[in-house]
Amino acid sequence: MDIKQIEKYEKILRNTCRSYKINVIDVSLPSNKKFREKQGKKANGKEWFNNSSSCVDMTIYLGIYKNKSFRLISFAHELCHILHDSFASNMKNTTFYNELMVWYKAFKLLNSFGANLSNETICWGLDQAKTYIGWEEREVLNYDKESRKEI
Ligand SMILES: [Zn+2]
Repeated sequence: MDIKQIEKYEKILRNTCRSYKINVIDVSLPSNKKFREKQGKKANGKEWFNNSSSCVDMTIYLGIYKNKSFRLISFAHELCHILHDSFASNMKNTTFYNELMVWYKAFKLLNSFGANLSNETICWGLDQAKTYIGWEEREVLNYDKESRKEI
């Protein structure tokens, strides 16, 4: 996809967000410099926003990306989190499984708008999901180990 197409689909995502009353904060904007620094400190470094986005409640924090296709798919991914996470939280799936499902939903959503995602972009999204493999073992079991030490 060229930059014009990417901008077109980003606009569609923004309109979708608007209709669901979802806020979108583009942290790459110069006007968000202070916000970036504050959040960077909380996350022990400014790198947190590089190639990374997130969502909290009804707000999407769109990170800083050199690759605009990665930014677009990340935007769709966060939107799908907001639209589907409450449903997913009722299921007893692993975090990896839920992440993978949200990435698939993001591919499907952009596809339904007519976007033709490259293999590179799809693989990049799947690589992001893979970082959650073993999340429970890392985050939950390690936490238990630490708390047992305190007893
Ligand atoms: Zn995610």
